[in-house]
Amino acid sequence: MMVSMLETTRHPTNMNPTIEHYKSDAIEVLPGDLSLGIILMCEHASNHIPTQYDNLGLPSDQIERHIAYDIGAQAVIRKLSVSLGIPAILTRYSRLLIDPNRALDDPTLVMQLSDGAVIPGNAYISDQETAHRTKTYYTPYHDGLKQLVDRSLDQGKPPILISVHSFTDRWKKISRPWEIGILWDKDPRLPQIFLQALAQTRPAATIGDNEPYSGRLIKDSMYSHATSRGLAHALIELRQDLIREENGQEKWATILRDIIQNIQANPKQLKLLHSQQNFGSYICPDNPATR
Ligand SMILES: [Zn+2]
Repeated sequence: MMVSMLETTRHPTNMNPTIEHYKSDAIEVLPGDLSLGIILMCEHASNHIPTQYDNLGLPSDQIERHIAYDIGAQAVIRKLSVSLGIPAILTRYSRLLIDPNRALDDPTLVMQLSDGAVIPGNAYISDQETAHRTKTYYTPYHDGLKQLVDRSLDQGKPPILISVHSFTDRWKKISRPWEIGILWDKDPRLPQIFLQALAQTRPAATIGDNEPYSGRLIKDSMYSHATSRGLAHALIELRQDLIREENGQEKWATILRDIIQNIQANPKQLKLLHSQQNFGSYICPDNPATR
């Protein structure tokens, strides 16, 4: 049997123990060396819905669908975190409960309809229940991520934020050609490196530049934690059919690992990436932090 490169790579020994042991019912923080200045994020890692919610009234096959989580994304993040020895923060609940990648005033924060499925447990949600889900699930993710960013900044190294998501291979019966998409707003530092590296590594593949979605999503996680603080970042979208199984997850984790390792070996790029720069934002031009 072929031994996986990713599985044989060890964690460094200088991991921050307080980060290593940070764990709650809502989030998981994978251990890693924060001084490397890279933080991995996975907002749609899990399809878990606590039992008291009774699957939000959905049949169990709906919970297995992409509407509940980003299929394959968690496995890719875990492999990346282990192989690079860098910390990652993951949610441990379904986006159907509350979506951590939305602003609190976004109408899709608690989805009532997703890709043709009505979510009964969300249809008549009270303000009180929304507040409860915010406190119990949404806030721990953002607090945890902010802690990681703050600690990295305290160590004098503005961190690079990389989030991994996945998208369906079809949308409304139309095939999506992109294998991977790099989503971004106005800060080109990390997206351009990824786009160029992917074009070289996979010349025959269709690579999405702000496809299949735009990275210009008002007050999403990247906006709140990276854009508004001038931190280099990229949101990576992988097509679900490519990372549904273990071998695909391994393959894409390796592709992303190699790109990140090349960045880590390039002092000029690192200097550019580990600096706080305000590039502004297409989505929040009125916000003084990102104008
Ligand atoms: Zn997602």
